[in-house]
Amino acid sequence: MFTTPERPGHFIDNQTTPAQGGGRLTVTNPSNGTECAQIARGTSADIDRAIGSARTAFQERWGGLATLERSRVLQRWSQAVLAHQEELARLEAMETGKPISQARADAVALARYVECYAGAANTLHGRTIPHQAGYTVLTLREPHGVTGHIIPWNGPMQIFGRSVGAALAAGNACVVKPAENGCLSLLRVAALGAEAGLPAGTLNIVTGLGAEAGQALTEHPGIDHLSFTGSPETGRRVAIAGAAHHCPVTLKLVGKSPQIVFADADAEAALPALVSAIVLNAGQTCSAGSRLLIERPLYEPLMERLSNAFSALRAGPAHLDLDLGPMVNRKQQQRVWDFLSDAQASGIEMAAQGEIVDEAPADGFYQAPVLMRDVPTSHRLWREEVFGPVMAVRAFDDEDEAVALANGTDFGRVAGVWTRDGSRQLRMAHRLQAGQVFINHDGAAGGLELSFGGVKDSGDSQGIGFEAMYDFSRLRTVAIRHG
Ligand code: NAD
Repeated sequence: MFTTPERPGHFIDNQTTPAQGGGRLTVTNPSNGTECAQIARGTSADIDRAIGSARTAFQERWGGLATLERSRVLQRWSQAVLAHQEELARLEAMETGKPISQARADAVALARYVECYAGAANTLHGRTIPHQAGYTVLTLREPHGVTGHIIPWNGPMQIFGRSVGAALAAGNACVVKPAENGCLSLLRVAALGAEAGLPAGTLNIVTGLGAEAGQALTEHPGIDHLSFTGSPETGRRVAIAGAAHHCPVTLKLVGKSPQIVFADADAEAALPALVSAIVLNAGQTCSAGSRLLIERPLYEPLMERLSNAFSALRAGPAHLDLDLGPMVNRKQQQRVWDFLSDAQASGIEMAAQGEIVDEAPADGFYQAPVLMRDVPTSHRLWREEVFGPVMAVRAFDDEDEAVALANGTDFGRVAGVWTRDGSRQLRMAHRLQAGQVFINHDGAAGGLELSFGGVKDSGDSQGIGFEAMYDFSRLRTVAIRHG
């Protein structure tokens, strides 16, 4: 079973520190509905302190450090995360409810992100620009200064690794506001960073509520760049708050990602990938393959196999390490229930449902995985992100219809295409409006070196890969007239 750290506080200036005013918040373990921790309830005073500390670190320590030295610290930190993989995984499994093996994989992904960005730090270059005779023009790529990071609860370690790893490698100091159900692992990760040599103030974590600590971070004039991952509604608020003090903002928002299976596809290979695309993290990922489009000749045979696969899925507490854990909180569970009751009221047929195991405590926030067939394109189950283990399926008749259906939402996060036809693979890759297109697989085996942009309302940040370093740096031009 998992254990709770003793009264965690904020992490500011490399020290654990209580909230000014002493406020605390209760974190609920989604696997059983009981209290798992009391965290510090951050206020604008805590944010102010963290930003002051980050500013000093940027100006006096981290910002001026040789790139190679920065890389070395990040390498050591990455190794420390790997060495503490089990401890970190247990914390994250406890607070988010994700199965323990998934949490272990997330700790490894965090270590790899930090390692990748440590390697990339030395390759973030400006360039020279040919201009007129008598001039030399060059660009300088520099850190923003103090960056703010708002991290959600669905993948605390992974999303922190992408965002903070890239920002630190580019030379910024960071202030992080994690989600209430996603901060215990990150507080420990930050302490490991201090032990690995991150100078005091380089990485600060202020826990608390979005509307308090989060909002204070977005409104603070001392923040030079804001990175947000989460819902479109909150993303809009963050962008407006940033704009009010001319602070650049990058957004990573939600998706309603299609998986498109043509009749010539290798259905055997596709089946497990289609299932895991929606079951991973109980469907609480922005890249979840929540819409499935099947070419009509394959529709009934594949639905039969999918139904069998869904019926065999099991949800239960994180420590049992089943196919999926609970939803992260009561609000998220209720959100899924609302979608399903709307679907039922509209007469949408449930083709199959998995099981919640008997050992799952009644007060946990469980939702069995659900397969819904022939979902109308006008229904919200087809158009809006559920962020739960609910797959919406419908048939299509030709390539044009598949493209129109796939692109027919407000989002463009990820798309999957399953076909043996090489020309069609390339045509689809060009026609699909999605930040990432996967052909005959899903997720590129983790693919943390790959850029992960969004199209339409899925956000503007590149998020992952080397390109994320551009999010966390700015370009200045120097023009020298030498005759
Ligand atoms: P949210 O967007 O409100 O929360 C994400 C983060 O933003 C959290 O750290 C939260 O504390 C912070 N936040 C909230 N209000 C803020 C504010 N006014 N200013 C600054 N920061 C603020 O998401 P939620 O309410 O936890 O979940 C709602 C929906 O969001 C989900 O159903 C899902 O669709 C989506 N979501 C998406 C992702 C993703 O990875 N893209 C992650 C979590 C949730």
